[in-house]
Amino acid sequence: VPELPEVETIAADVRPHLTARVVVAARVLRPDVLRGVGRARFERALAGRLVTAVRRRAKHLVLELDDEHRVVIQPRMTGSLIVRDAGPPRRTAARDPYDVLHIDLDSGARVAYRDVRRLGAIFLLDPPAWARYDAAIGPEPLEAAFTAERLAAILGRAGLAVKKALMDQRRLAGVGNIYANEALWLAAVDPSRPASSLRADEVERLHRAVVGTLARSIRGRGTTVRDYRTGTGQPGTFQGRLAVYQRAGRPCPRCGGGKRIALTHAIDGRATYFCPGCQH
Ligand SMILES: [Zn+2]
Repeated sequence: VPELPEVETIAADVRPHLTARVVVAARVLRPDVLRGVGRARFERALAGRLVTAVRRRAKHLVLELDDEHRVVIQPRMTGSLIVRDAGPPRRTAARDPYDVLHIDLDSGARVAYRDVRRLGAIFLLDPPAWARYDAAIGPEPLEAAFTAERLAAILGRAGLAVKKALMDQRRLAGVGNIYANEALWLAAVDPSRPASSLRADEVERLHRAVVGTLARSIRGRGTTVRDYRTGTGQPGTFQGRLAVYQRAGRPCPRCGGGKRIALTHAIDGRATYFCPGCQH
């Protein structure tokens, strides 16, 4: 599941290939991923346009075009954007059966959106639609404006479990199940605690943990537990550095041999990994 660090990695990989390039042709191979726009209008809207920027917002990729429209790609479970260099002529190049969208650029490169289970979604948004989309998502945790005070304000209003609050994209952008589990363990906070019950020192630890674990994962090019690949088609490396996620039954890295990582589905039906020893 691509979360903030994985989408950030993909954006960084494809950015140099897309930015300041003209789209020669866009082809939608699987139109069922389009939302609010049909294949013909989408392809026409991209053809001949200059890509002015490639950004990430929450867990989504945003391609900005010179007419102020944005292509927003939500990779959700199994989607990824990949650069395929010019290489051999198209008709002889092997076809990836999971390709959903091809964007051919004036450099000769092709950027492909591929999605194994096609649970992802692609939007074409004009400026007002983008403003609404952006406003519905919470603050970016790696921006300077995201302080411990800001996190305290987010959690203070929430009576639900702190883990659920962290993962709620309307409250905070980009954190999903992997990094919520990791951050709560790092901060030694019980994931099931009501968000509003955290003391100031706990919120401060949690803030440091969220920012730290996301930043370290970006440096490791993200976490590959199954399908995630970077923009160059490689797996990430952060899966080797996870403390609790998918590590049920292993000794807690902080408590040592005495305590083992536990797994519960009591919070929102999602897999929650925690140490019963140090996350009180
Ligand atoms: Zn522990």
